[in-house]
Amino acid sequence: MKVMKFGGTSVGKPERMHQVAQLITKDGEAKIVVLSALSGTTNTLVSIGDALSKGDKAGAKQIVDQLEAHYKQFILDLLKKEETRAKANAQISEHFEFLNIITKISFNDALNKDILAQGELMSTKLFSLYLEEQGIDHALLPALEFMSIDANDEPQVAAIRKKLNAILAAHSAKKLFITQGYICRNARGEVDNLKRGGSDYTASLVAAATNSSVCEIWTDIDGMHNNDPRVVDKTVPIEQLSFEEAAELAYFGAKILHPTCIWPAQQERVPVKLLNTMQPEAAGTTITQEAGSVGVKAIAAKDGIIAIKIKSSRMLLAYGFLRKIFEVFEKYRTPIDMITTSEVAVSVTIDSDVFLKEIVKELEPFGTVEVDRDQSIVSIVGNEIAETKDVLSRLFDSLKQVPVRMVSYGGSRHNISLLIPSTFKQQTLQLLNSGLFGL
Ligand code: ASP
Ligand code: MG
Repeated sequence: MKVMKFGGTSVGKPERMHQVAQLITKDGEAKIVVLSALSGTTNTLVSIGDALSKGDKAGAKQIVDQLEAHYKQFILDLLKKEETRAKANAQISEHFEFLNIITKISFNDALNKDILAQGELMSTKLFSLYLEEQGIDHALLPALEFMSIDANDEPQVAAIRKKLNAILAAHSAKKLFITQGYICRNARGEVDNLKRGGSDYTASLVAAATNSSVCEIWTDIDGMHNNDPRVVDKTVPIEQLSFEEAAELAYFGAKILHPTCIWPAQQERVPVKLLNTMQPEAAGTTITQEAGSVGVKAIAAKDGIIAIKIKSSRMLLAYGFLRKIFEVFEKYRTPIDMITTSEVAVSVTIDSDVFLKEIVKELEPFGTVEVDRDQSIVSIVGNEIAETKDVLSRLFDSLKQVPVRMVSYGGSRHNISLLIPSTFKQQTLQLLNSGLFGL
């Protein structure tokens, strides 16, 4: 069994869907195909929910109508036979009837989740109808029957495995399965989701649950790059990464992979491949247990970071000081990304200002608190870079003109992180691109 996941842009146009059908039928290997919503749809569904939450029913209705028109045209271009088109229109109409009813009744959070689920439900139905029209044998597996999260919104790995394998066993004659990314049921049995970009997570969970040979994530870029292609002139795809390296990169800003998605595949040692629908022959990036090589592999940056410095002479020679500080962040469920300490001060970074006021207020009794907003974490990731000769000297040589605010080195063997003002991000990434990669 193998898993192939296609993102929104890979199914966002009728011709792209046609191409996906070709990609999944190239070989005879049994596979589960996980699809996102058509590109733009989830954002549109979010705006419907936003309008309704503000009581703007007319606005919501208008967005629903526009979206429906988009799907009507999509069906015309996707399908050729009148009969399948009629089927598609009937099926898609049901979803828009549902959305239309929702614009009339009182809105709540559970309904909002139902709205958000419509994108993946529609994309998979349309794709399944296209396969049917092409005479490609397959089964459409409803993700809501096997994907579930617990009361803490964590996927129920054991239950997913059990349910999915039972469903697959009931379809033992089939070799091709289509299912929805992103959507699931929560502990209350309601429709829920794995958060934005969660289709990758679905793919990784499905791959783990079925002990697949590979989990392929198909997007519109040729794998993970050594640096941010949106910011830096010259970047190259990375062929091989370890799970740890990929997790650090995804977390620290590489947009290609959903940060939390990797662990299920990693746990079952299923290799993850990042591939490009536009260039299916390109090698892409393979993520496995092994790192493949030693040294710097990639740089990623994460914006919107806030640095908090707590300075206190009472910290001198005191024990328990850090625990008291960390407890404040724990209380407000705000994760800390970077930490540096000196004998009289500690600096930490967070990426959310939701409870910033409260946190600062509770830190003030410990000492002087300084807050710096608009910072970026630049992360240099690679296997054993902490032990690789010259990395540090080349790093700091490259960044002579950059006011580095914090450095985190040695926390793991494959990461060095710097905190810089976001206004220096582009310059920093470009300088490191030449300094560390010679690009
Ligand atoms: N459609 C969802 C989103 O746009 C899930 C995904 O694409 O991964 O966030
Ligand atoms: Mg996506």
